[in-house]
Amino acid sequence: MSDCIFCKIVAGTIPSRKIYEDDQVLAFHDIQPAAPIHFLVIPKQHVASLNDCTSEHAALLSQVLLAVPKVARELGIAADGYRTILNTGAGGGQTVFHLHAHVLGGGVVRPMSDALPATN
Ligand code: 5GP
Ligand code: ZN
Repeated sequence: MSDCIFCKIVAGTIPSRKIYEDDQVLAFHDIQPAAPIHFLVIPKQHVASLNDCTSEHAALLSQVLLAVPKVARELGIAADGYRTILNTGAGGGQTVFHLHAHVLGGGVVRPMSDALPATN
């Protein structure tokens, strides 16, 4: 997709700090890290979000997820653990509409209850 930031990162027209790449997926450091280690894993194929996935995307989704522990091991955070997040849609905090898994680690990741939306 021509106006998609992550497709441009895949194409190399926008630079990124790449960590891992194979035929199907790319992993690179998030430009605005929310943890000591914060990387993104994306499929090279443009898919806007999890909402756009069907059974036809099963292989692509498994490749994205299987790359997560691979890269986590490479960065030395697998043993301690890490959080994997897929924000979906504006209500889910998604700002870049090319499917991606966030991986956060390298420090103390707060419990999920701290990440819940504020309620009155
Ligand atoms: P979202 O909010 O869609 O779940 O996550 C998008 C993520 O992409 C954000 O954490 C943001 O910092 C990251 N991001 C946006 N533009 C770029 C970029 O040009 N390069 C890199 N490396 N990360 C980006
Ligand atoms: Zn894209």
